[in-house]
Amino acid sequence: MKKDTEVNMMHGAGGEVMGELLQTLTAFKNNNAGGIGLESLDDGSTFTIGGQTIVLTTDSHVVKPIFFPGGDIGRVAVSGTVNDLSVMGARPIALTSAMVIEEGFPIADLARIVASMDKALGEVGASVITGDTKVVEKGSLDGIAINTAGVGVIEGDGFLIRDNGMTVGDKIIVSGTLGDHGLTIVSYREGFDLGDQLKSDVAPLWKMIEGAMKASGKGNIHAMKDPTRGGFAACINEMARKSRVKVVVEEELVPIRESVASAGELLGIDPLQVANEGKCVMSVAPEVADKVLAALKAHPYGKDAAIIGEVVEGSGVVMRTRIGSERFIEPPLGDPVPRVC
Ligand code: MG
Repeated sequence: MKKDTEVNMMHGAGGEVMGELLQTLTAFKNNNAGGIGLESLDDGSTFTIGGQTIVLTTDSHVVKPIFFPGGDIGRVAVSGTVNDLSVMGARPIALTSAMVIEEGFPIADLARIVASMDKALGEVGASVITGDTKVVEKGSLDGIAINTAGVGVIEGDGFLIRDNGMTVGDKIIVSGTLGDHGLTIVSYREGFDLGDQLKSDVAPLWKMIEGAMKASGKGNIHAMKDPTRGGFAACINEMARKSRVKVVVEEELVPIRESVASAGELLGIDPLQVANEGKCVMSVAPEVADKVLAALKAHPYGKDAAIIGEVVEGSGVVMRTRIGSERFIEPPLGDPVPRVC
């Protein structure tokens, strides 16, 4: 295949193609402050101050449209960063908010975005404590881009969770239905009238994850990640590859809303390959799986949580279908829906 010489949309789509670009973008020699560094491509990185493990992460948000059923760019900007901290086991403390705004953008929309960010922060007890604003000429940006960085802490009774710790025998848990965000965004953009059943799942997950961690006991959630760009397919493949294990998923246990499945069929898009903005995927010690599931279900954002499979020896991710056959869940080349977060 010809090597790309220019950035294209697939380079931002969270799949295998984006992985190639990351080789260029992560070529820092100064890349590790004494903890989990850039090379691990985890949801966040760590460093230690006075014995306290700090988790740091950053994300830029360019979702199109800015307002959509179930959320808006502000809720995505806070939830995306809060969730990257949370899936590492860190309580989100403080965020930054840096906005690049196109000349002509309505100030009333900015106020709406900030109010939405504030509401999401309030749900998890985090704060935006510093920010930056730049304005660029009309036409040089599509409305607004928001970058948020976040700092979280691993607390005494908590524990650091990586995306590479899957262990043979673990149960795989998803915290709810898959594909809602990506299929809502694409359906809305395409102008399909799918009633009011389709809406984004965008949500800040710390309180739900904190409950699951307390129920699991220290260290028993072996791996966790949020299935954003590239969806569940990209997420589970990355976790399995990094952990050097195989994952077997039972198709009939995977929660997918009927409206999401129909939209996917209509558009030719696999719900497992599109972004979720309010879900996590966990690999959990089998003896605590039921307890963790119950804790997830006790939180509104986890009410549809399900145990969907297990970790075995080998490599790759296999789905056992309803009719008893098996097929690989392949890592997508890129999320089929660009600018989804
Ligand atoms: Mg993530």
